[in-house]
Amino acid sequence: MTEHRKVVIAGSGPAGLTAAVYTARAQLSPLVVEGQPSSTSDQPGGQLMLTTEVENFPGFPDGILGPELMAAMRSQAARFGAEMVTDKVTRLELGGGSPFGVWVGAPEAPEPTYEAETLIVATGARALMLDVPGEDRLLGHGVSTCATCDGFFFRSQHVVVVGGGDSALEEALFLTRFAAKVTVVHRRHQLRASRILQDRAFANPTIEFHWNAVVTEVVGDGKVTGVRLRDTVGGEPSELPVDGVFVAIGHEPNTAVLRGQLDLDTTGYVATSEGSRTNVDGVFVCGDVQDHVYRQAITAAGSGCMAAIDAERWLEARGS
Ligand code: NAP
Repeated sequence: MTEHRKVVIAGSGPAGLTAAVYTARAQLSPLVVEGQPSSTSDQPGGQLMLTTEVENFPGFPDGILGPELMAAMRSQAARFGAEMVTDKVTRLELGGGSPFGVWVGAPEAPEPTYEAETLIVATGARALMLDVPGEDRLLGHGVSTCATCDGFFFRSQHVVVVGGGDSALEEALFLTRFAAKVTVVHRRHQLRASRILQDRAFANPTIEFHWNAVVTEVVGDGKVTGVRLRDTVGGEPSELPVDGVFVAIGHEPNTAVLRGQLDLDTTGYVATSEGSRTNVDGVFVCGDVQDHVYRQAITAAGSGCMAAIDAERWLEARGS
């Protein structure tokens, strides 16, 4: 039996849960399809579940653990009546307009699990990872995917940034505010990054480059103490003692379920117009699935608020 809802929110990171708080307080009884605990791209709580200390979310002068922050946002949304489903959206039918078909669980089911008058897409993004031994185990203990979030913890230390694109150089430049030394490890001898960032990085005495190398293992017992490298030309192995590893080889928005349903921009993120509106009337988007620039918990939360207000006004204008 298909259940009718005024608001369905796909995703439960800072964007989805902020949208849930706002729409719940607007008496719209939102349903949050929060994701699947076993999955790295769809885990409830989003990317903050993979972080340790969060020190830049306003309101927490002593910092807060990422999972604790998400648990607090979840219970705040629940307090106002948001309902959570611990599963993932597997199929959407947006073509026919509102109400939209939302499948949770078996995508081949003939009828959708929910029909939603409005849909808020907050499925987030995931940082691409190296997929080498030690990386997963030491994530949050010296391995990071966000210099803005974690750079502060590496004061006067030596860190490695992996990658050769704009993200890698931007992270490396940011890290020079804290670290004593930043080594950019890149698999080729030519950077992909824009000229201006290359010029800045080459001119910065704190940054050095280790060319033609890939990380084969992150080493450390409880916290990072080094990386093992392999030369991509000669194949020789080497080891570099470091205190931190910033993986900056790109991000991927979680758009699999949106393909063919919503317009994406040239970089693969959901295209927006007028705040959180998508190309489908009644479908709104927020958080990292539509933002490849800022990617912060606070900007995701802010955009979740925007999507909730846009959805609320859209329903109101239709007399729902
Ligand atoms: P990107 O441009 O795709 O660069 C990824 C880098 O990581 C490349 O240098 C790539 O090496 C390397 N890489 C990929 N997989 C790897 C692996 N498994 N092991 C080792 N190295 C690997 O990604 P991005 O830097 O995140 O940028 C994404 C987009 O956002 C770009 O369009 C970029 O211009 C934009 N961006 C802009 C700014 C800015 O303007 N300030 C800042 C950040 C991002 P190869 O070069 O050998 O392929």
